[in-house]
Amino acid sequence: MNTVQEKIEALTRPNIRSLKPYSSARDEAPEGILAQRIMLDANENSYGGPLEEDFSRYPDPQQRVLKQALAKLKNVQENQIFIGNGSDEAIDLLFRAFVQPGQDNVILLPPTYGMYAVQGNIHDAEIRQAPLRPDFLPDPEAIWRQTDQHSKLLFICSPNNPTGQRMPDELVLELLHKFPGLVVLDEAYLEFSAHASWAARISEFSNLVVLQTLSKAWGLAGLRVGMALSNPFVINTLNKIKYPYNLNAKTIQLGLKALERPDKMHAKAAQIVAERQRLALALVELEAVETVFPSDANFLLVRVKDADGLYQFMAQKGIVVRNRSREIHCENCLRITIGTAAENDQVLAVIQEFTNETTIILP
Ligand SMILES: *Cc1c(COP(=O)(O)O)cnc(C)c1O
Repeated sequence: MNTVQEKIEALTRPNIRSLKPYSSARDEAPEGILAQRIMLDANENSYGGPLEEDFSRYPDPQQRVLKQALAKLKNVQENQIFIGNGSDEAIDLLFRAFVQPGQDNVILLPPTYGMYAVQGNIHDAEIRQAPLRPDFLPDPEAIWRQTDQHSKLLFICSPNNPTGQRMPDELVLELLHKFPGLVVLDEAYLEFSAHASWAARISEFSNLVVLQTLSKAWGLAGLRVGMALSNPFVINTLNKIKYPYNLNAKTIQLGLKALERPDKMHAKAAQIVAERQRLALALVELEAVETVFPSDANFLLVRVKDADGLYQFMAQKGIVVRNRSREIHCENCLRITIGTAAENDQVLAVIQEFTNETTIILP
């Protein structure tokens, strides 16, 4: 097993390796052809739809214009990008392509993003857990204890959801060198941290898959654009099994427009980071709060004295946060997304109010 292609083929499920993908109507059509030819190949409606804007044509299944823009922005080649209906689609497809149900296993480092385990269960993968230590740093020995030749995916979320901290570079390197399957590095919160993306090293490590999204720092969660960045063999495999038109025309159009303004994204991410700092400093001063964990993301994990009580109280006051207190090492922890300055002021006021109303003043 020498070439990247051979390595990736060996990791791919046999049925996917031999799959002949659906060839959609527009797969072979060069760019711009829709405007130039009479297109009567796909049973579209030449009379148009009821809306003013024309959506009568199927979108480009390869999302070429969006891929060009992303390639430039991420400094990778177009054939190193898979674009999905959110990065959740990429997670789903990684299971479909590489994890043989009832046979293969995946390694998770809880507490982490819940979707990995949900997808693992959907695809009947054995989920093996190598929990983070109580300080939320990974435990390499636990990871290696769980790993065997059927370990196909290892999910590292960095910065991690819900704990907020980045995973150490040395550990990621060790995993990239020694893990037998694909190392999936989820960088959904990358833009809120001061660190470079691992995407710069996808040519160096054939088993590295980086996930990114427009849902967080780009502020486009409603559009549904996520991506996987990896070598062309992994990317081809994902493209082969995706729904032909997994991104709709409006999403492609607006995603492209948004990508013209990375300056706006960076300015807003910087504002969120500044508010994260302000909120963290104010939260630790509150009676109800025990610990505010350091965060490289757009949320804070906060250990409080009574998470269930505070969660209910905040909900009654119209503030919805995430109660993570049932997750391993997250006893009494709430995850609070950084809001606007006014929203964060409300959060602080309501937590103070909770203390005032629940503190029994002894005579
Ligand atoms: C929010 C989030 C995502 C984004 O998912 P999309 O499907 O792209 O919206 C991915 N991974 C993690 C860890 C997240 O928290």
